[in-house]
Amino acid sequence: MSTSTTTAGSRRSGASGRTRRNVTRALAALALSSVGVVAASFASSFAKAAAASPEQVALQQTASPTTLPLSELLALARHGDVRTARLDTASDAVTGTFRTGGHVRAYTSAYPAGYGARLTEQLLADRVTLSAVAATSSGSTDVSLSVLATASLLVVLWLAVAARRRRTGAAQRAGRFGGSQSAASPAGFAKGHGEQVEVPPTRFNDVAGLEEAVESLTELVDYLKNPEKYQSAGADLPRGFLLVGPPGTGKTLLARAVAGEAGVPFFAIGASEFVESYVGVGAARVRSLFDRAREAGSAIVFIDELDAIGRSRSSHSAPGNEERESTLNQLLVEMDGFATSASVVVLAATNRPDILDHALLRPGRFDRQIAVPNPDRRGRTHILGLYLHRRHVAPGVDPAVLSARTAGFSGADLANLVNTAALLAVRAGKESISSSELEEALATVALGPARKSAVVAAQDRRITAWHEAGHALVGLWLEHAADPISVSIVPRGQTGGVTWFPGQDDMFLSRRQATAQLAVAMAGRVAEELLLGDDFTQGAAQDFRAATDLARRMVTEYGMGSMGPGFVLPEETHIGVLAERVHASVQSLLEEAHACARDLLVQRRDVLERIADRLLEDETLDGATLVVLAGRRPPEHDRLTGAA
Ligand code: ADP
Repeated sequence: MSTSTTTAGSRRSGASGRTRRNVTRALAALALSSVGVVAASFASSFAKAAAASPEQVALQQTASPTTLPLSELLALARHGDVRTARLDTASDAVTGTFRTGGHVRAYTSAYPAGYGARLTEQLLADRVTLSAVAATSSGSTDVSLSVLATASLLVVLWLAVAARRRRTGAAQRAGRFGGSQSAASPAGFAKGHGEQVEVPPTRFNDVAGLEEAVESLTELVDYLKNPEKYQSAGADLPRGFLLVGPPGTGKTLLARAVAGEAGVPFFAIGASEFVESYVGVGAARVRSLFDRAREAGSAIVFIDELDAIGRSRSSHSAPGNEERESTLNQLLVEMDGFATSASVVVLAATNRPDILDHALLRPGRFDRQIAVPNPDRRGRTHILGLYLHRRHVAPGVDPAVLSARTAGFSGADLANLVNTAALLAVRAGKESISSSELEEALATVALGPARKSAVVAAQDRRITAWHEAGHALVGLWLEHAADPISVSIVPRGQTGGVTWFPGQDDMFLSRRQATAQLAVAMAGRVAEELLLGDDFTQGAAQDFRAATDLARRMVTEYGMGSMGPGFVLPEETHIGVLAERVHASVQSLLEEAHACARDLLVQRRDVLERIADRLLEDETLDGATLVVLAGRRPPEHDRLTGAA
């Protein structure tokens, strides 16, 4: 059994929610990319041949061809940037043209002897217009290989079949995973090689609680709508905006809303995809993405998790950095290479602007930062209001009340909370969401679903009830502790029971609030001591962990311990005299907190027992019931606040 004091805001579903979202997003992107690549391939293999013959292209070529490593050539081909290839089997070399930064250039690349056939296959599969130079006794002769032509036709036919199959499969997968991309883009268009390309239907009024960020981006929308106005006035054009904030706060949503408001296509790419990939792939994808954004004229390019590639180059030491660096360099090249006529604006998301390479933050690159923080209480009310408004909600449900209980939740957590409540309402056969579904959803999102079928031994239930009643009562009685919202002994996830407190929204944590939190955390163990004597259980382990963590911060960071003001580095707390003093100071805070909780609960053991008994009957008690049952606060004996 394990029990815990849970602060609504201290447990977030953010991490797991994010992972799930990322998985879903990755799968959706994968589904889209297979459709994009193959569907585009069919049209473009003909279009390219018609639009730009090798001769025409040759006019645009620079004098000396770029030497490309074979791996980069293949990566470029995979992303549709290689236009022509001519294989010379005598010298094991391939030459041709490729697109880069809006230009067409000539390249040359060597391949290993005997690799020609495989290379041919790969280039054909990537829809490159192919020819060959065969070695003859009289030297090299240009031939248009009928074998290749036949192979090409077969490949194209196979691709067409595969495209149909994959399109169906992708549509099914998209449906299974939510299908938001396909469903959300009727107004959009898809072209290209895997990244999402669409004019999103999203608007600023789909974003709640981020008024300042929206205000900062409104000018950008105007710029995208009327670039000439800015250009003719000679105003500096924005190139890159950094959206800074933790996961799930609405950075992607904002970027889509900017594109939606301005009516321009939205090109998105996740930087973390490149970290593990082959050298050259990231750079080629960045190049291709920007090429297509430029082709669109006005566009938003969104780069998620920029820090995955944008980390300061001096701090690179792990393997995979070569790829990261080449991708980052390409991004810098692209951002510098914007033609003034193209209104392509890059928005990038990160939670760590401090670790970004300085080159990224220079003027003309990501020189504007916009904060996208976790929502405060008002912001949460707005976000909850937005999502509740879209559903049938029973009278009496107040977003403001729910907001008070969700400190620390991100916008994505809140959206998930309302959705979970809606599902619970459907499951219960109700037509609207009531407070009880929202209550249940909150507990589910934070702790996991109730383990209704769990068989809990009578003695374990009793211990849990006493433990939780201890937390709840000390919280209720201590002046500087927050009042409990509810207390429950229904097992959920890894916990046997839970006492809910509102999360901390305040900017400051005072010494008295901090010491009161320690006493509340200790109260579960104290209650067990009163029930079981010296044979208490391990149920307080999580409470101790949280309390020790807070006490350590009070001593080493906040200057609230017996050592007085000052900051102690984490490495100084491991060994040595300073470490011993820190340890002693932390221990004394914890012992004082334990003594405080004990004083309170010993005085009113009758109330503790009454609440525990009621919990055994009802399993869950709300804050108002607790107040009625607990009665008057015991005479103030708050050694923590100095009152006698
Ligand atoms: P991020 O890019 O910051 O990780 P997202 O934009 O992907 O976060 O947010 C995921 C989802 O969470 C959004 O699609 C939206 O449903 C919801 N969401 C997050 N923040 C907000 C917000 N401020 N207003 C409305 N919905 C939000």
